[in-house]
Amino acid sequence: MAGETVGQNDERSVDYDVVVIGAGMGGIYAMHRYREQGLAVLGIESAADVGGVWYHNRYPGARVDIESYYYCFFFDQDLYEEWEWTERYPAQPEILAYLDHVATTYDIKRHFQFDTWMTGAQWEPASNRYTVTTDRGESYTCRFLVMASGQLSKPRKPEFEGLDVFQGEWVQTSEWPHHHVETEGKRIAIIGTGSSGVQAIPVLAETADQLFVFHRTANYSIPANNAPLDRSKYADIASRIDAVWADLQQHPAAAPVPLGVKTAAEYTPEEQQTLLEERWAYGGHTMNGVFTDQGTTKEANDIVSEFVRDKIRSIVKDPTKAEILVPTEYPIGSRRLCVDTGYYDTFNRDNVTLVDVQADPIVRITPTGIQTENHHYEVDLIVFAIGFNAFTGALEQANIRNEKGEQPSDGWSRGPKAYLGLMAHGFPNLFLVTGPGSPSVLANMIVSNVQHIDLIGSIVDYMKENGYERIEATEKAQESWVEEVATAASRLLRLNVENYMVHVNKDDGSRVFIPYAGGYQNYAARCNEIMTNGFDGFEFA
Ligand code: NAP
Repeated sequence: MAGETVGQNDERSVDYDVVVIGAGMGGIYAMHRYREQGLAVLGIESAADVGGVWYHNRYPGARVDIESYYYCFFFDQDLYEEWEWTERYPAQPEILAYLDHVATTYDIKRHFQFDTWMTGAQWEPASNRYTVTTDRGESYTCRFLVMASGQLSKPRKPEFEGLDVFQGEWVQTSEWPHHHVETEGKRIAIIGTGSSGVQAIPVLAETADQLFVFHRTANYSIPANNAPLDRSKYADIASRIDAVWADLQQHPAAAPVPLGVKTAAEYTPEEQQTLLEERWAYGGHTMNGVFTDQGTTKEANDIVSEFVRDKIRSIVKDPTKAEILVPTEYPIGSRRLCVDTGYYDTFNRDNVTLVDVQADPIVRITPTGIQTENHHYEVDLIVFAIGFNAFTGALEQANIRNEKGEQPSDGWSRGPKAYLGLMAHGFPNLFLVTGPGSPSVLANMIVSNVQHIDLIGSIVDYMKENGYERIEATEKAQESWVEEVATAASRLLRLNVENYMVHVNKDDGSRVFIPYAGGYQNYAARCNEIMTNGFDGFEFA
């Protein structure tokens, strides 16, 4: 039955209580949590070590854009106290070192099988187990399958004609190679100006001989205003981590940045500008919540959007370049805000060329560079910062099958469906960590991961106590949750903007907002309520 220690993976047995896919922040915590719970757990990870996105996204300039005080684990006071972040927004090597430190401290690496791809998982109703297969030819069974494989982890492949004949080097931010990529004195092209691109561009510009930025849609990017860690603030949080953790549970994004308290119309124009300047100085995602109605009301949003546009115009000296960089295609906050260090100022450098691919589209890659309709750019290195197959990419790749041979995403042609973003009806004992329909990428991911993993741990305990072997989300609960997710997003301006968080139905153009936009705090409270009400919406057997 669930919870029995049916295998000891130190000795690599074949049957486990839980198989965890992924050794990122979610998988690391899941392994620790479930082993503490007395479960036999096996982890499978395609990379050579822990870290997840922070293992792969090692591009120059990569850094977190949630403040480090809150981008860490809170489950152990000693862990919080002993770790020394150096910056408000640490860079990728430091975050990877932190995750490695956590994995080492709790001795969980030996329970992971690294360099291993899961090739499939088949639900076996007779035994209430999944059989998980890997590319090493092994096969394991488990009572519970926990997909901690990330929502932004399957890179979008560059599909540019001619890439195969390019004689220079090409790399992706999302899969930055482990070997040294020489950028010093090189002619570099970068394609993509989302969160990854805006971080990489200023750093690449410093060493490149020439940097060509191939720019399609202008995004709003807010300065991070990074700074050394405030040691006294960190020590203060360390002295009361339980209270701070409880506070994070009350926040819409699970990170206590300043929020809007009034609608735009409740301020005078002068007050609005003062507040906007304060938020610009604070930096980062705080620009998303200046006014309470900026996400839903065009007039309120325009005030914030126009403020940021003016900031861009004031930083970028060449007005022609500035107008390309000024975002006009969507209201601020309707795509994830980018957070940068010196992004706009980079376009004032002599060695940086802005290529507007809306005006001059890329035609193909050539052996020596990039051909647009009007120009050929000779380059040595191409960097693709073109994003991910978000939400469904990693899950589809996992090839999980129920007894009818279906995959979870088979029923998702009109948008993802999962109860609480955690379980898909028809897939017993399968948990999607931070899956579609949960706050997921809208919240501090480390908090979202911990919340889901704790929830799964409580479910497993409950099943153990009650002698259950099988859990499934009911179709009714799933449908009503999908409705709730739709309602939470229905008034948002961002529902009408093309981006990876919106699923557009091709036949009628209807839109499904993928994550739960009703606020992390409301979601977490709802999950707690469900847990205390006998796990409403789940069926046990
Ligand atoms: P992204 O936001 O999806 O941006 C992809 C970029 O590539 C866009 O500028 C897109 O242009 C461009 N692009 C794609 N295909 C193209 C083509 N064929 N030609 C020209 N341009 C093309 O991807 P991302 O920057 O990797 O960020 C994804 C998410 O990862 C973020 O939203 C965030 O959640 C996370 N992330 C977080 C951090 C952080 O915490 N600091 C850092 C990096 C990433 P269009 O807009 O025109 O499509």
